[in-house]
Amino acid sequence: RKDVLRLTTGSNNLDSLLGGGLETQSITEFFGEFGSGKTQIMHQLAVNCTMPEEKGGFNSDVLIIDTENTFRPERIIQMSKYRELDSDEVLRRIHVARAYNSHHQILLGEKASEMAKEYNAKLLIVDSLTSHFRSEYMGRGSLSERQQLLNRHMHDLLRFGTLQNAVIAVTNQVAARPDVFFGDPTAPIGGNIVGHTATFRIYLRKGKAGKRIARLIDSPYLPEGEAVIQVSEDGIID
Ligand code: ATP
Ligand code: MG
Repeated sequence: RKDVLRLTTGSNNLDSLLGGGLETQSITEFFGEFGSGKTQIMHQLAVNCTMPEEKGGFNSDVLIIDTENTFRPERIIQMSKYRELDSDEVLRRIHVARAYNSHHQILLGEKASEMAKEYNAKLLIVDSLTSHFRSEYMGRGSLSERQQLLNRHMHDLLRFGTLQNAVIAVTNQVAARPDVFFGDPTAPIGGNIVGHTATFRIYLRKGKAGKRIARLIDSPYLPEGEAVIQVSEDGIID
């Protein structure tokens, strides 16, 4: 795949782990327990995407599908100030759509390509990819339907990434110690389909004093490894 671009995460450590940042034309999944920093990283990626290329951005707009109502303009303003960006301008370039249920989320995913043409967005965020699906499809009998819908949704997202040469970043919550329950520290709850479609998967766990440990898992060509990042008032830093 030629013309692949990379978007900085804000952390040099994490960028290095990823071979320079998040790749376009791929889905990157951030998974981890509550408070592990998934939503904070999504905010930082949105800010970074609006930055000029020489600073690791794409100088472009951002689309966010927000399923948990956790988008906070105040955080965008704080992160913009730290990077010496005009926060009004940054906010103008971030387009947030609330998804009220999984059906709505799927529709927004399908519409994303058309919306992207309007906004020239080179970053599409879905935070959280799985929460609606998880709460709406609970019983054993609905598991395969859920996975099928999620799979189709992810292929819509990937199509957007290919058409627009955009980064796709999604989040997925997992239990604090998934290894205890599933025997595999990297196994998200019922998330195997997500795991297969996401090209890059990053497992986040909490460290001390605002630190987070990011582990790259199952990358197609990068070595497995870990990076320490910080979730701070200023955003995602080393
Ligand atoms: P969930 O699965 O519940 O959605 P998450 O992985 O999305 O969780 P985040 O919301 O990204 O978690 O992380 C919340 C954490 O980020 C807080 O517990 C805090 O440590 C940190 N954080 C949030 N805002 C700030 C801030 N302004 N300054 C410093 N740290 C902050
Ligand atoms: Mg969150």
